[in-house]
Amino acid sequence: MTITSINPASNETIRTYSPLTKDETMDAVEKADEAYKHWRTTSFDERKRVLLEFATQLRDRCDEFARLITEDMGKRISESRQEIIYCAEIAEFYAEGAEAFLANQPIQDIDADAYIRFEPIGVLMGVMPWNFPFYQVTRFAAPNIMAGNSVMVKHASNVPQCAEAIADLFDTCSLPNGVYTNLFIPSEFVEAIVSDHRVQGVSLTGSERAGAAVAALAGKNLKRSVLELGGNDPFIVLDDADLTKTIPLAVKGRMVNAGQSCVAAKRFIVVESIAENFLQQFKDAMSDLVMGDPMDEDTTLSPLSTEDAAENLQQQVQSTIDAGATVVLGGDRPDREGAYFNPTILTDVTSDMPTYDQELFGPVATVYVVKDEEEAVKLANDSSYGLGGSVYTKDIERGRRIAERIETGMIFINQPTNSQAELPFGGIKNSGYGRELSHLGILEFVNKKLIHLG
Ligand code: NDP
Repeated sequence: MTITSINPASNETIRTYSPLTKDETMDAVEKADEAYKHWRTTSFDERKRVLLEFATQLRDRCDEFARLITEDMGKRISESRQEIIYCAEIAEFYAEGAEAFLANQPIQDIDADAYIRFEPIGVLMGVMPWNFPFYQVTRFAAPNIMAGNSVMVKHASNVPQCAEAIADLFDTCSLPNGVYTNLFIPSEFVEAIVSDHRVQGVSLTGSERAGAAVAALAGKNLKRSVLELGGNDPFIVLDDADLTKTIPLAVKGRMVNAGQSCVAAKRFIVVESIAENFLQQFKDAMSDLVMGDPMDEDTTLSPLSTEDAAENLQQQVQSTIDAGATVVLGGDRPDREGAYFNPTILTDVTSDMPTYDQELFGPVATVYVVKDEEEAVKLANDSSYGLGGSVYTKDIERGRRIAERIETGMIFINQPTNSQAELPFGGIKNSGYGRELSHLGILEFVNKKLIHLG
C-alpha cells in the first residue's frame, strides 16, 4: 500500500509516503496514551495558548497550506484559502469558549449539592476524508484537544501533504508530543486501534460504507462514536421565491468544492409554477462556469479529487441517463487531462432509478418539479439521508413551517446549508449521528460525571 499525493488537475504524482507498520502504529497509540495522562492535567489557559498559536500560524501561512490542499485534491485555490481561514476561526472559537462550555454544571431543584463535571476520556481516533482536508481534522481535533483528550488521525490516503502539514503545525505550536498524531496507515489498521483498550472513541467523516464499518467496530468494542456521512440535501424552491437571488445560491450550493461536499445542495425541488424559469436560469448559470486549473484564480470549476472519483461519478450519471433521466446540461466528462467533470443537470429522475437515493459527489444537480409545497416536503423527506437542506421563499414564516417538517439535522432559509464554528453540524438517518462544532461538538467525547456531595 502506498500513500500518494496525485494532483488531480494533471494526474501527476507529487509525492509518495511510506505507511507505518502495525507495530509502529500501536507504539503511537501507547505514546498518545502517555501524552493524554499529562495533557488532561493541563489548564485551559495552557491548551488555549497552543490553539491560538495554531490559529495564528494558519492565518500567517494561509497561502502555503492552501496550496497543499489544491495540490492534493484539486480544490480551487480561493476555496482552499477560505478553508484555512475557517480552520483558524474554529480553533479560536474553542480556544476562547472551551472553559465556559466545560464549566461545572450545578444540578438545580434537588435536596442536595450535586453537579456535573466534564472530564476528558482518553485517546480518540479520527478517520477523515479528503474533501475538506484541513477543516474536517480541525473540527475534530480543536474541541477535543481543548477538552483534554489526545487525538490520532488517519487521514484519507489521497491528501498526505495536508495530513503531514497539520501534524507539523501542531508541533510548531508546542503541543506536547503524542497529543496529536498523524497516522499514515491503511484503513485496515483502524480495527486494531479502535479495539485497543487505551482508545475511548472514534469519529469518522466519509461514506456510509466506511461509517458503517467503523460504527460496527465501535459497537463491538463499546466505544463512543460520531459519524458524519453523506447527504442528498434538498434545495426547495417555493412559488414565491425570488429567483434573482435564488439562482446564484443554487449554483453556489451545488458547486461548493466542485460539488464534493456532504452538505452541497443535491436535489433541487421546484414548485411547478416557477419550474420552467428556474430551470432555464439555472442551466444558463451552470453553463457559465469556467473549467480550469484550480491554481488559476479565474477558474470556477475545478477537477474532482481523483480520477477514480470522476469515473465513479460518470458511471452513476450514465446509469441514471440509461434508466430514462433527461440531460438538460452536460452528463459527461470533458476531453482534457485531469479528473474533470462537466457541469450537469438531470431531470425526470424517478424513485426506481439506481441513483435516486445515492449521493452524487460532483457538479451534478438533479431537478425535480413538484405540484406544491406539500409535495415538496414529501419528496425532500423521501431519502435515506438526513443531513442538511434549504428552503427559498419570500415568506420567512412559511419557510420556518416547512423547515420544521424536513427530516434533517440542519435546515436553512434562503441560503444553502453551510458550516460555522458556532453552529451545530450533523445529521440523522444514514447521514450519521452526533454533532460537531458549536458547544455541542465539545461534549461528544467527555465524561459527564455526576458529583454528589450529599
Ligand atoms: P471513504 O468513506 O471511503 O473515505 C473516508 C475515510 O474513511 C478515508 O480516510 C478512508 O481511508 C477511510 N475508510 C474507508 N473505508 C474504511 C474502513 N472500512 N475502515 C476504516 N476507515 C475507512 O470515502 P471515499 O473517498 O471512498 O468517497 C466515496 C464516497 O463517499 C464519495 O463519493 C461521497 O459520496 C462519500 N463521501 C462523503 C464525505 C462527506 O463529507 N460526508 C467525504 C468523503 C466521501 P482511505 O482513504 O485510506 O481509503
